[in-house]
Amino acid sequence: MSATLDSRANEGLGTSGALDGRPAGAPDATIDRPARGPDATCFPPTERLSTADLRRMYFDCSIHELGRMAFDVTERLHPEDYRTYVVDRNINYANWCTAKCIFCNFKADPPEMKSGRTDLPEGYTLTFDQIARKIEELQAIGGTQILMQGGLVPKEGATGLSFEWYLELMRFIKKNYPRIHIHAFSPPEIFAFHQIFGMSIHDVLARLMEAGLDSVPGGGGEILADRVREKIGKGKTLTHEWLEVMRQCHVHGMKTSCTMMFGHIETLDERLEHLRLLRELQDESLARGNGGGFSAYICWTFQPDNTPLGRMRSCRWQRGPRGRGAEGSRVRNFKRRMAGC
Ligand code: SF4
Repeated sequence: MSATLDSRANEGLGTSGALDGRPAGAPDATIDRPARGPDATCFPPTERLSTADLRRMYFDCSIHELGRMAFDVTERLHPEDYRTYVVDRNINYANWCTAKCIFCNFKADPPEMKSGRTDLPEGYTLTFDQIARKIEELQAIGGTQILMQGGLVPKEGATGLSFEWYLELMRFIKKNYPRIHIHAFSPPEIFAFHQIFGMSIHDVLARLMEAGLDSVPGGGGEILADRVREKIGKGKTLTHEWLEVMRQCHVHGMKTSCTMMFGHIETLDERLEHLRLLRELQDESLARGNGGGFSAYICWTFQPDNTPLGRMRSCRWQRGPRGRGAEGSRVRNFKRRMAGC
């Protein structure tokens, strides 16, 4: 759990056609219902399930059964009678961005790169002093971590940033706030550094870590299916690129989180594929004997307000309570059960 003082308004939400690939407007296959046929006992708690069984579990178990299975996983993996949390703060150092994600209302167009959108906010880059003040506000309430992300900022032009700027930012924070854990730069940002500064992903990470980077957030995961990414996130990492950044973090022995933004144009099978890819990468990391690279999984529903994706007709059904309530619980419980073995 994290307490944030301000949040990134861009990663969010709501849309589309049916989860099982049916056209928008077709009867809702995901609404909660009592179990018909299979129940939790059909899915052995420590066994990996086939895609067919996962689909059956998703559609045919009630939200209560999914919750019970998820709770069993928690109890099995964490029998201790306490839970921990971190108090952190999101700091978005700059919102200039070359990508064209239609679910985003955070980015600003760099002056020399107009996307044609007229609903974007003013662009900014925080100064080190502004970042310092935010960290001090965090420390004043006992916070220990910052989650720092920005847009895909170009290196050229009036708003451009050099790689040295990022390194200097890490050093500045570590020098002045040595007890703050720096959780920063999502895979799309790191991949952009690799592209625009002409360094391997491995070297980008090595230099950021040397300067003070402690861990990497799983931002920009959305749905790890290129059909979806090419429609809603033009100009940012494709599936294999996002995964490769995470793989390189884990090779370095660095912990990362992973994410999923759901409830837009994805199908249920694309959600399952997303989870399968994450689990496969975690298996790869566990095989290195370092306890696994992913230390947290965070999923959230698409937030449609003030986004081109949210204005699409096919997004209308996501505005209801199911998109943000019961469906969210269903997905969270489901992924916990799936991650538990
Ligand atoms: S990469 Fe996409 S989501 Fe992130 S700031 Fe840029 S446009 Fe927004």
